[in-house]
Amino acid sequence: MQTRFAERQLADPELAASEQILRKCVHCGFCTATCPTYVLLGDELDSPRGRIYLIKEMLEHDRPATAEVVRHVDRCLSCLSCMTTCPSGVHYQHLIDHARVHIERTYTRPLLDRWLRAALAFVLPYPKRVRAALALAAFARPFAPVLPGSLRAMLDLSRRTRPAAASVSSSRPIAGTKRARVALLEGCVQTVIAPEINAATVRLLERAGAEVVVVGGCCGALVHHLGQEPRAHALAASIVERLHAELIGGGLDAIVANASGCGTHAKDYGYLFRNDPLLAAKAAAVSAKTRDITEALATIGLPPRAAGVPQLAVAYHSACSMQHGQKVDAEPRRLLAAAGFEVREIAEGHLCCGSAGTYNVLQPEIAVRLRERKLANVARTHAAVVATGNVGCITQLAAGAGVPVVHTVELLDWATGGPPPRALQPGAGAGGRELRADR
Ligand code: SF4
Ligand code: SF4
Repeated sequence: MQTRFAERQLADPELAASEQILRKCVHCGFCTATCPTYVLLGDELDSPRGRIYLIKEMLEHDRPATAEVVRHVDRCLSCLSCMTTCPSGVHYQHLIDHARVHIERTYTRPLLDRWLRAALAFVLPYPKRVRAALALAAFARPFAPVLPGSLRAMLDLSRRTRPAAASVSSSRPIAGTKRARVALLEGCVQTVIAPEINAATVRLLERAGAEVVVVGGCCGALVHHLGQEPRAHALAASIVERLHAELIGGGLDAIVANASGCGTHAKDYGYLFRNDPLLAAKAAAVSAKTRDITEALATIGLPPRAAGVPQLAVAYHSACSMQHGQKVDAEPRRLLAAAGFEVREIAEGHLCCGSAGTYNVLQPEIAVRLRERKLANVARTHAAVVATGNVGCITQLAAGAGVPVVHTVELLDWATGGPPPRALQPGAGAGGRELRADR
């Protein structure tokens, strides 16, 4: 794609990076076929190619964002399916991130939208605030029918999430030979609504012979996708500093993420801080060590299988941030199979389930359509359980799946000596279903 940025514009490193990305696009349109919003809405401006064009016009002419640009950029899930498809290597992720920051700087959103985005950014990175917000939401639920769509979606999401018992907070010495030392990204929302995921991860890693150091705090991804750069930057900087201290202190074989959205973001710290003289090298080192939990386990080795765990049929839902963001596709399936489960593929596996961070709150209509489409494909697998590597997808799919939706590590932990996943236990609440014996 030809661009016409002025020399003075290209002195800005963000614009210079986006110009390089834009130049790679050859307008071929291959990406449109695998873009969930184009598949649903059929509008070129809701395709990657259309959005790239809108962003180019906005940045090149140094224009404030218009309502039209904001509408189509907001509808993008950042699922990155387009990056998997693109034959020219267009780094759409960095381009849309830049567009979102430009929108935040130059566009005044309607009041409700501003309030909602500010509330999400204020609450989600902080577990105590998430806990308080979930408690408040319980009181607000009776008013849901008279609220605007996005607020209704937020209350619906709070109904589908379950604050649970305390999270994992520290490491302990392992029994037997130590095979690795890893840091686990504890995360934010996940520690409140599904602490069992971190607990299963630690048990599994320790059983595999790894010493686990738990590093708390939000990675900044949720706020980053809202375009709120200063807050996202501060959250990420804090975690980079602490991870780097572990890296050069006790030494780390890997930094482990068990929420693929966080993993994708942490793997991008090197890029995000590339122009920061204080943090560039540290961030690059952190990114280079970051692994999804299934990548780490593939290296360390899965512990031996325990006796008596049923060999269930598992529909594996590959989160977008896992398959498109990190290109981690084979490891989760291989590990599930090695643990004794029968892995079944979900048709249209490349399409997003509609969760996408805060997307299901901010774009509820599209998110619901994508969820229904995904659930219909899940049902066709006739699997007994759905496994995925991202807590957002679990929350999005659990309410309507008809079978339990669990994190991949919960199944691997169970198969190697841990307890059954919470959603598979008798009497599991919202999102959990008892196992169907015929599957
Ligand atoms: S990130 Fe996903 S929704 Fe956005 S343009 Fe690419 S394929 Fe479409
Ligand atoms: S597939 Fe790549 S090169 Fe082709 S239109 Fe899409 S982004 Fe541009």
